[in-house]
Amino acid sequence: MDSSFFQDVDQEPRLIAPDAQETDRGFDVALRPKNLSEFVGQTKVKENLRIFLHAAKGRGEPCEHILFYGPPGLGKTSLAHVIAAEMGAPIKVTSGPALEKVGDLAAILTNLEDGDILFIDEIHRMNRSIEEVLYPAMEDFALDIVIGKGPTARTLRLDLKRFTLVGATTRLSLLSAPLRDRFGVVFHLDFYTPVEMRDILDRSAQLLSIPMESTALERIAHRARRTPRIGNRLLKRVRDYGQVMANGLLSADVVDRALDALEIDARGLDEADRRTLRTLIEKFNGGPVGLTTLAAATAEEVETLEEVIEPFLLQEGMLARTPRGRVATEHAYAHLNCVIPTRQGILLS
Ligand code: ADP
Repeated sequence: MDSSFFQDVDQEPRLIAPDAQETDRGFDVALRPKNLSEFVGQTKVKENLRIFLHAAKGRGEPCEHILFYGPPGLGKTSLAHVIAAEMGAPIKVTSGPALEKVGDLAAILTNLEDGDILFIDEIHRMNRSIEEVLYPAMEDFALDIVIGKGPTARTLRLDLKRFTLVGATTRLSLLSAPLRDRFGVVFHLDFYTPVEMRDILDRSAQLLSIPMESTALERIAHRARRTPRIGNRLLKRVRDYGQVMANGLLSADVVDRALDALEIDARGLDEADRRTLRTLIEKFNGGPVGLTTLAAATAEEVETLEEVIEPFLLQEGMLARTPRGRVATEHAYAHLNCVIPTRQGILLS
């Protein structure tokens, strides 16, 4: 009966995909930390940010442009809102793919006031011609508009207010050098520790009035891929499960049963992760194998493998990258209860 409770376990979107999904929307906003003290973990980033914002406020100036990079679901959008709150400034939100024409960005820029925060999510996905509008806007607070075409075309320069751009990207390497150089400061967000994850879940459970013991929260924390968005999503699913299957009781045991029913194992791997490792071990003798070949053999998209599955398996030490391709590590064999072949010259621990 347990496994049939979550009937859509095998359906898209993946429960433990770290990108925001339609069902996360209201939830993400409700649980977003309101200021730096509510933001759990990322201690170094927070410390530096606090000094940076404090200094700008002390000078009575808007702060320099800030770039956040790191895997999805770790708090980049939350930090952009926190910056706005700490600076007492309004925030305008858009994203690289949403800006389709130069005019879209120009309209946003000309409507900004002094000190406003402009947040551009997935900034690496911005079209190059739109990106070029940002260069003078970021550097000189100016907007260059081309009037006319051909030899009679001329450029008109409009002054903009002194805004702060906050950019977020999951792929720093895809950001062009001229754009990257225009950010005054770049912060890297890393995966959270289990203790930090427990604290984040504790805060979320309180905000959602879900009574949970610390041990039960820890169980979710260990299986949430060190990613707050996934942790919050699992919390929500566990609450549903407890309500229907355990009279609302959310003990560690009920959490385990709920997560088992969701086919998320003790290390936070789901079926797609396990299939990737199993394919690597069973079909390719543990590797090395190229990413594209592995994607074809597991029927995953190369992008999903590269951006979602691989970073987590690398982080957990179950997969390694070598110059000749991906390799399953000893941890992967142990986790899947597979016997390590004797001829394993390239096996990494
Ligand atoms: P990103 O922009 O990196 O994809 P978000 O900022 O949208 O991530 O975070 C997703 C959700 O995770 C947010 O709604 C928030 O509730 C939660 N979250 C992320 N980081 C933290 C944190 N450090 N402390 C508390 N909650 C967090």
